[in-house]
Amino acid sequence: MLRDPSLKKCERCGEKVLVHQKKCPFCGLVFERLKYVSNKSARKEVIKLHRKNYIMVKEWPADASKKTALFLCGFLGFVGAHNFYLGRYYKAMIVLFGFLSALALVFIDYASVLHTVLYYVSAIPSLCVLLFWVLDFVKIFLERYKIPVSIDKNLYNLKKEVIEK
Ligand SMILES: [Zn+2]
Repeated sequence: MLRDPSLKKCERCGEKVLVHQKKCPFCGLVFERLKYVSNKSARKEVIKLHRKNYIMVKEWPADASKKTALFLCGFLGFVGAHNFYLGRYYKAMIVLFGFLSALALVFIDYASVLHTVLYYVSAIPSLCVLLFWVLDFVKIFLERYKIPVSIDKNLYNLKKEVIEK
């Protein structure tokens, strides 16, 4: 894919916009606001299912540590620890379910109906465990992993105070 230096990708809608543009003409995101986002406030929005209140970005916000995420993914990635840490709870649940059901299969009687049912139900999530474990580690390392962020009101107000006074 040819890279045009005068274009960048909007973090929210993915449309190509001109680098100097302050606001995305497609979705209305004000790019300057991305400087005042936090992962902590976004995690709350993810739990509350307020999909409109957070966006997924590749730049690390000030309150999320890449080192911590890499560490968690490396050692506990099979239970989705890094996803829980960064607030990607849906992904984390799938991975956790996949791991727990794969573990359960070891202990449940092989000939039982439960074993057969669980075998089919857990097949895809269990595959996800291995897949995401490896992929996420590479993605976090290369800063391709998407992190939910939302405007941190305290940070944003602070900026207003500092600049407008
Ligand atoms: Zn946009």
